[in-house]
Amino acid sequence: MMASDSTILSNALANFDKTAARLKREVGRELLCKIRRPKECIELELSPELGDGKIHVFQAFIVRHSDALGPPKGGIRMTPSVSLDDVKGLAMEMTWKCALIGVPFGGGKSGIVADTSRLTPHDKETIVRSFARNASRHIGPQLYIPAPDMGTNEQDMGHIKDAISYSMGLATTQGCYVTGKPVLLGGIPGRREATGRGVVICIAHAMEQLGMRMKGARIVVQGFGNVGAVVVQLLYQQGACIVGMGDLFGAVFKQQGLNVEALSEHVLQTGSVRDFPGGDAVSGRELLKIPCDVLVPAATAGQITERNASQISAKLIAEAANSPTTPPADAILAERGIPVIPDILCNAGGVFVSYLEYTQETQQEQMTAREVERRLKERLKERYSQVQAASDERKWTMRDAAMYLSVKTVCSALQARGYLP
Ligand code: NAD
Repeated sequence: MMASDSTILSNALANFDKTAARLKREVGRELLCKIRRPKECIELELSPELGDGKIHVFQAFIVRHSDALGPPKGGIRMTPSVSLDDVKGLAMEMTWKCALIGVPFGGGKSGIVADTSRLTPHDKETIVRSFARNASRHIGPQLYIPAPDMGTNEQDMGHIKDAISYSMGLATTQGCYVTGKPVLLGGIPGRREATGRGVVICIAHAMEQLGMRMKGARIVVQGFGNVGAVVVQLLYQQGACIVGMGDLFGAVFKQQGLNVEALSEHVLQTGSVRDFPGGDAVSGRELLKIPCDVLVPAATAGQITERNASQISAKLIAEAANSPTTPPADAILAERGIPVIPDILCNAGGVFVSYLEYTQETQQEQMTAREVERRLKERLKERYSQVQAASDERKWTMRDAAMYLSVKTVCSALQARGYLP
């Protein structure tokens, strides 16, 4: 893999290369070279007939970065700009995330190049079904298990399960082909909220360690989708004060704290936080610089860069999004003593609960919401503490420690498997 225009891929490679340099003696160059590249990249062309009666062409990608620890797992991103390189970077991140959170999955990811804001629900369903049909030989409990990511949700995962089971001539699939689907179709209670809930568990744990109080803590969140909306809701319920909130279309600020119920209602009605009357409009750039206790980037990659890292005025950054901070920005934040909970730990709650969904479906059992929540909390706190201990011991950032632990785990799995001729 060469350098890339994709911020996500170049961030993933830079973080990996830094870790590989530390592991070279322990692991060996050949193995590190092997896991620097994705195992398999698939490009698909979807050509469904949409509601206007015309055939439309959409590009789609599936990347299996590694299956050392198990079948690749990772969400489907559906945005107008997603590229094969983005998907390679995201799949690589999934490899480290699964290893770090301790689930028997490798790293994978999919992308569908489409603008969901311009699609009718019927057209979106048609495209998702077309993806499922075209990708069906690449999806399966032992092959690659998708889930929601930016632009896709629970409903889309229901369509994928339905399309695959009917293509097999069955009323359901045998085993888990997709996670994050509706509970009625074999989904698990709490999966929809799991990523956001996991982010909040990490934030609460970090605040406790830093001697910060949740009650009244000033929070800024960028992104009000699957993840950001849950983060805002849970932090608000725990007594935090949401002072800034933004999305792709605008951002709002209120010194005394935004009324989250009214804001959520506004987003439901208008599709954005923009023009919310209960706060002052600010630009997306200003949002990230608002003085606060915790800044939560929960939108997209490359938001904290060397251009704004020195102006960030947060005591803690919790990476709910994938790859929101570039490596040069990371160095600036470390220099300034601002701790960052890295994405591969902070947003790993989603894949952990996906694993519970996978086991539930495989064993044809049912887990309660309370059990899911308990196991999520336990696992995240345990892994957070391991990363913290490695970070304290080696005087590394949390990201460097998390990367070291996860890359080492994947290398050990490859060594345990042995090399095929
Ligand atoms: P989503 O599509 O549901 O929501 C994305 C939100 O971010 C929207 O509010 C959108 O308006 C906003 N946004 C997008 N681009 C923006 C920009 N340039 N500036 C400001 N706001 C912008 O997506 P999601 O599922 O909530 O995912 C958000 C992030 O979390 C992504 O990086 C994703 O990879 C990561 N993530 C999601 C999950 C999951 O379970 N959905 C799991 C792990 C990580």
